[in-house]
Amino acid sequence: MNDYLWQTVTRRKFIASMGIAPTALLLANTAGAPATPHASASGAGTGGTSGAGDTGTSVASSAHITGRPMPSEETLGDPPSHRLGLAIVGLGKYALGQILPRIAGTQHVRLAAVVSGNKDKARAVAAAYGLSERSVYDYVGFDQLRDDAAVDAVYIILPPALHAEYTIRAAQLGKHVLCEKPMASTSDECRRMVDACERANRKLMIGYRVHWEPHNVEAVQLLRKGTIGTIRQIVGQHGMTLDPSTPHGEWRMQRALAGGGSLWDIGIYSLNGARFLSGEEPVELRAAWRHPAGATVGGKVADVELGVNWEARFPSGLAAIATSAYDYMANNLSVHGDKGSIELSPATSYQGNELRIENKAGRQEPRLGESDEQFFGMLDEFALAVRENREPRTSGREGLQDIRLMELIYEAARTGRTVPVPPA
Ligand code: NDP
Repeated sequence: MNDYLWQTVTRRKFIASMGIAPTALLLANTAGAPATPHASASGAGTGGTSGAGDTGTSVASSAHITGRPMPSEETLGDPPSHRLGLAIVGLGKYALGQILPRIAGTQHVRLAAVVSGNKDKARAVAAAYGLSERSVYDYVGFDQLRDDAAVDAVYIILPPALHAEYTIRAAQLGKHVLCEKPMASTSDECRRMVDACERANRKLMIGYRVHWEPHNVEAVQLLRKGTIGTIRQIVGQHGMTLDPSTPHGEWRMQRALAGGGSLWDIGIYSLNGARFLSGEEPVELRAAWRHPAGATVGGKVADVELGVNWEARFPSGLAAIATSAYDYMANNLSVHGDKGSIELSPATSYQGNELRIENKAGRQEPRLGESDEQFFGMLDEFALAVRENREPRTSGREGLQDIRLMELIYEAARTGRTVPVPPA
């Protein structure tokens, strides 16, 4: 990442960590309230109470306090009235730990409401982010969002089996939808989500944050430039050790809520990554269970698979080989070409992703700044797609394609056969 992006990211991180909107900072510095008491007393270094009769130190400091132009590399973002008002639906680990703290660092989005099954938690979260009690909703009262003019869109961060219902309801209320991955439990649900949003003339985007992660973005650019020659193989591993005693581990063990197992939840990163990095769509799939549904984790029986290995063939002849797992930790993607290789490891973490390139020029590990740029990029893309009335970059159709392919991977693992991918 260049210096400009690094500085922007750092400033956004700082603002996000303060929990305040960038515009609030601007207003504080311009709307009557002076930036510092010294500046108000002395004007632009012309004396005032800290005049020439005071100590030499005061003269020096007031003389040095001047209004400077806005640094050219800074971007303040829209004022609140122009930002897309977002209701967060589901206040779980990802919403609370990753999304809510970063909204203030975006350019075009503001938090407008929260929806939760736990009123006390929702009130506390609303208060922490400066929302009034009027902006707190529960699932029963979800349809009241229709009359909340502050809410332009919803961000659905519920277990996957609930994505379709809340996406369709939100579209019918006239709200745009950003929905977490995996898009839904089945491709039929995905199609109904796409249709509902199209019928209501609302945008639908899936939260594939990695498409804005600086190391992943750079990898795609290098691959398109031919840095490692012709791509022959992509290898992906995504795994985590599932703890069924945690609230977010509990539903992941149940197909009725999770839609699928490790493939649906984290294996999707290898699949989407292979498509994103290659720019191609698979034509044929093979797969084998490592641990089919029925295995035991933490003393509980999972009715989803804990692990599956799969292989995809792409039109150019390149192959992708990947593993998803709920019984070990892994997070990497590597791309191998006839003139070198590119490795992302970790590839899809919230923070600290790394890129390594090896080719005839040697080995390089470019420092590309903060991975949390991915959250700002994703949220701002959604707001801009709404504003510009265009398809978001990771649209419902992108989410549907992954679910369709994962269904075929399950079929391949179940039957032991090579499964062709029918046209979309
Ligand atoms: P959590 O279990 O931590 O949060 C889910 C929230 O959904 C709950 O806290 C609850 O919110 C609400 N909910 C409503 N009904 C249910 C139910 N029957 N069972 C459980 N929760 C329910 O999960 P995560 O935050 O880890 O995951 C949520 C979504 O975000 C999933 O789709 C997941 O795949 C996705 N995700 C995406 C990530 C990414 O990097 N893009 C990373 C992690 C998750 P409340 O109590 O407020 O009602």
